Amino acid sequence: MICLECLDSSIMDVDECQPLYQDVQNFYKGLNMEVDKEIPLRLVDSGFLSKIILFSLCRIVAGLTLAHEMMHGWLRLNGFPYGKLDPYVSEGISVVMSYMWLENEMMSGTDSNVASPSLSSSSNPYIKGPRSQFERKLGEFWKCKMENKVCPIYGDGFRMGYAAVLKYGLKSVLEHMKSEGNFPR
Ligand SMILES: [Zn+2]
Repeated sequence: MICLECLDSSIMDVDECQPLYQDVQNFYKGLNMEVDKEIPLRLVDSGFLSKIILFSLCRIVAGLTLAHEMMHGWLRLNGFPYGKLDPYVSEGISVVMSYMWLENEMMSGTDSNVASPSLSSSSNPYIKGPRSQFERKLGEFWKCKMENKVCPIYGDGFRMGYAAVLKYGLKSVLEHMKSEGNFPR
C-alpha cells in the first residue's frame, strides 16, 4: 500500500496541501470516480506522510503523489481484488492517473511569464495559480520521466495501462481490471 516510489521526491504538509487535495479530488470527480474524503486522508495519514514530516517541493510533484495515492484508495474503496492484482496493474493504473492529472494540469491554467513559483501571488504553493515556466518545465520533465521509466512495475505497468486506456477508455479498462485482474490487450 505504501508506495515507496512516491517517497523519493514528494513531501508535503497535510494542512497546507488541502487546496491541492481538493483539486485532485475534483479531477477524480470529473472522471466520475468520486473518492470519499475521509478514506484517502486516512490513507495519507497512516501512510508515508505521518512517518516523514517534511515540507513541500512544489504543487506539481505533490499533486502527482496525491493523484497516485488516491487511485490506490479508490481501487480499495471500489472493491477491486487488491490481493489478486499484480503490482504492475495496481501501480501501473495509479501512475496512469497521476499522468492524466498532470496532462490535465498542463492543459488548464493560464500561461504566465512568471519565472518561479515563489513569485506567484499566493504564498501557499498548493493553491493553483498561473502556470509558471518552472511548473511547465517540471510538468514536461515528469511526463517524460513517467513515459520512459525503466521498471517492470511503474514503467511497463504504466505504459501498458496507458495504452489500454487510450485504446479502450478508462471506464472499460477499470471494468476489465476488476473482473480479470489485468489490463485489456
Ligand atoms: Zn503506488
